Amino acid sequence: MEAAKIKYILTQQQIEKFCDIMGVDQANVEQLNALRCLNAEYIRDILIQHDYHELTKGIEYLQTLKKSYNYSEIKKALAKAYKMPENEINASIQGKNNKTMHFCTKCGKRITGKQNQRTNGLCSECLVDTLDL
Ligand SMILES: [Zn+2]
Repeated sequence: MEAAKIKYILTQQQIEKFCDIMGVDQANVEQLNALRCLNAEYIRDILIQHDYHELTKGIEYLQTLKKSYNYSEIKKALAKAYKMPENEINASIQGKNNKTMHFCTKCGKRITGKQNQRTNGLCSECLVDTLDL
């Protein structure tokens, strides 16, 4: 798949994995994907984190099968599978990816990850509204 498309759409395999993890209806996601209405980068972030967790959790198990992958090899495999540079895979795994977006839970405005942590998901304006005077 060409790079420009990767930014906006998910592969069928990614859709299936996402629906499986999130328990959402696949037909709807496929439709939205075809319309390029999904935040593909954000969803891919979720998938990468999920894959990394699953794979590293299984490192000991893999060793018993005489398949001793290390963390760096797993990251390399993810970079290949998602056609992304390893530094982006790293950022994604560490949750540091600036493509991970946060939105105010009240008004929907985009907020930073730092703000999200500080206010438990509210933008500054909505946080002000919660102050009792
Ligand atoms: Zn708000």
